[in-house]
Amino acid sequence: MTPFQYSKPTSIDAALALTGPQARFIAGGTNLLDLMKENLDQPEHLIDITGLPLDQVSQTEAGGLLIGALVSNADLAWHPLVEQGYPLLSQAILAGASPQLRNMASTGGNLLQRTRCYYFYDASTPCNKREPGSGCPARDGLNRIHAILGASDSCVAVHPSDMCVALAALEARVHVQGKAGVRQIDFADFHRLPGDSPQRDNQLADDELITAIELPAPQFSQHSHYLKVRDRESYAFALISVAAALELDGDNIVSARLALGGVAHKPWRNPAVEQMLQGRAASSESFAAAADMLLADAKPLAHNAFKIKLAHAAIVRAFTEAAATGVA
Ligand code: SF4
Repeated sequence: MTPFQYSKPTSIDAALALTGPQARFIAGGTNLLDLMKENLDQPEHLIDITGLPLDQVSQTEAGGLLIGALVSNADLAWHPLVEQGYPLLSQAILAGASPQLRNMASTGGNLLQRTRCYYFYDASTPCNKREPGSGCPARDGLNRIHAILGASDSCVAVHPSDMCVALAALEARVHVQGKAGVRQIDFADFHRLPGDSPQRDNQLADDELITAIELPAPQFSQHSHYLKVRDRESYAFALISVAAALELDGDNIVSARLALGGVAHKPWRNPAVEQMLQGRAASSESFAAAADMLLADAKPLAHNAFKIKLAHAAIVRAFTEAAATGVA
């Protein structure tokens, strides 16, 4: 680890004043410290934001929730308003990491964690995400855990978060503040596809801080399910994950949401698939049609073709579980 300067401001303005290309915000540090210890990230200045007043969950006038960026993953998963109104989000958070990590990890930091591509974490190999222009050994190397959707010649990494898959399905909005002011970003637009600049995971500028995540009023509290498929039962990143949510009128689908994790550089969602499900029966045939449509453009690498079949089965299963939730 290389030497760095450390500051702990007590206001957002003071924190923003310290930002720059070589500075990093730190909260729980559950990913950044790993990167620093391996010299994969060498910030010159750490801005500790744990003294900022961003640790509350409150209800919005629209009936939704405003979740402060410093609310821990554990506190968010077990928050009564989340458990009651957004069980999909609770399930997704509790499917990720370990209890110790969830106690430390923050809501904002969860959005900013880096890919778990093996080559990214191995400083002895090239990697376009770590060193732009150096190459992507995963494309023709070991790529069992890598992307089947939205990849580029430059990078085939996947986003590692479970929480973000649920937030994508729930159409969250990301509140950010920078030196130029505040703005909100639709969750679908927050993370990027790799294109020819895979070093950038998201749309944040260097001087912008995530301050909160906003959820709309609960719509899918009765019928939702988060399904995570991984190599071992605990403390592993998803090979495939599915956030499935339904609003039902009897057996008919009024509205649906579907997001996939473990398949792309960002949580993968296609609103056209969800529109196709509207008005259809909540049946395995409808769910299989949604899986066919969502995966139609999937392109496997040498070692991950199994993900397409696995994702198809996981989508059908997750929707089936969602439809059955709350049914006696
Ligand atoms: Fe690096 Fe992306 Fe290639 Fe992995 S997939 S080696 S993160 S460029």
